[in-house]
Amino acid sequence: MRVLFVNPAMERYTRQIAMPLGLLSIASYLQANGHTVKILDHTLRATNFKKELEAFQPDIVGVSLLSIKSFSDASKISMQAKKFGVPVIWGGIFASLDPAFIFSNIDIDFVSISEGEATWLDVMNTLAVGGDLKKIPGLCYAENGKVIYTEQRPFIDLSILPPMDFTLVDVEKYLGGMYGCKKTAALYMAKGCVGNCAFCYNKTFHRQCYRMRPVETFLQEVKYLIEHHGVDCIYFADELWCRSREEMLYQCEAFKNSGLDFKWGVQTRIGIFEKEDFKIMKDAGCLWVDFGVESGSPTTLKRIRKGIPYDKIQQTFLDCSEAGIISLANFIIGFPDETEEQLRETVRMARTIAATQKTFFFFMPGPGASLFDELVSSGKYDPPKTFREYTKIKFFYSPKPNFSKIPTKDLKAVRARFLWEGFSRKYFNEGTRSYDLAKKDIADVLKQFRGHGLRFAWQLFWISAYEFTDIFFYAHFFPKVMKKYGIFE
Ligand code: SF4
Repeated sequence: MRVLFVNPAMERYTRQIAMPLGLLSIASYLQANGHTVKILDHTLRATNFKKELEAFQPDIVGVSLLSIKSFSDASKISMQAKKFGVPVIWGGIFASLDPAFIFSNIDIDFVSISEGEATWLDVMNTLAVGGDLKKIPGLCYAENGKVIYTEQRPFIDLSILPPMDFTLVDVEKYLGGMYGCKKTAALYMAKGCVGNCAFCYNKTFHRQCYRMRPVETFLQEVKYLIEHHGVDCIYFADELWCRSREEMLYQCEAFKNSGLDFKWGVQTRIGIFEKEDFKIMKDAGCLWVDFGVESGSPTTLKRIRKGIPYDKIQQTFLDCSEAGIISLANFIIGFPDETEEQLRETVRMARTIAATQKTFFFFMPGPGASLFDELVSSGKYDPPKTFREYTKIKFFYSPKPNFSKIPTKDLKAVRARFLWEGFSRKYFNEGTRSYDLAKKDIADVLKQFRGHGLRFAWQLFWISAYEFTDIFFYAHFFPKVMKKYGIFE
């Protein structure tokens, strides 16, 4: 059977484009099981989808909806596929977490819930014998205005998945420079996370379950990328890289013994590794570690169920620094009922930790997260019902609606100040200069101009200019806010 997968274009997307690892993993698995697959990535360039359908003659079309920002293109593609007479299945994080929204906004056949590999193989094999797709576990569909879920599918054993077939995508287009490396590729080693953060979809999407792939499969992929594309660095796109010291030791040992020369960076949780561990990681090629600190307030951390040891936050960044590892600290501000005093604690934390880079985000209620459910059930949040309503939300620029007890102007100024400082400082500690990060961001935007035409480039230019002006304005023209939260202390 033949399946055409599409990664739809994202609206107003200005950052480095990421390899569609989810689609690639499913496609590689289907191909290894005898099906014919093709991936179109509209985030790289738009295609004439009608012509693609005519040329490839798929039996089914799969669309990955990671974010609501892809809805417009995903809808267009799906309508064309339906006209062509083939069924359409959507998957990906957003589709999976809110199928009711999808079915009330577009007429497609199914949404694949959570992990897609085994479900898709079942779909293809069932199609091949003319079976009933409505009996396949892991799907949902709309019937008489209701969303019907089929049986929940157990997670797949990741060791049965083959190495990803990178010939299915244009690898070179996804390779960006990071922290001095020239060609960084994103790969995944594990799925899920053991955390239970109240603002995160992990508990719903991954059922708080953590699974690792065999390190040998991962290393086969790295070897291919090094030999065929000159990749010199791997960014682990996992929600969580290693749950324990033992897993870390096992992986570092395997990396070192592989004979492959590559650097790497990960996302992990504070409290898993100690000083000696970071040294071992550095020795095995680790370049950077990304931590979600989220808040400097113990009260907020408890409320959001972050589950990290507060007393280890400062030490962890010092340990990274001593080990020579770049450390990134991510904070979220504007949590429901967060107070000015709690924001002051977060600013104090951000000011004092030894992190190389500190990034601030606004709290955004998203489907699948328990804070989202809380806000909706208490009547404090009425989530968008239509795609048009969704497009009006600009959480990246402004915390609207603002669920905290902090004025919106204060949240914007605090975030802008930290972003500006990160933007104008050195990219990382050694061998770089001020504004290197700014130059990298501008280069990322310019990359997106190619392949999307003048209209897209023009739109992107204005969005980037707006974002820059907004950050500059809030970072520089609110001295009283800076004083109030101790930013200049
Ligand atoms: S640690 Fe990260 S991935 Fe895990 S639940 Fe918390 S926010 Fe989600």
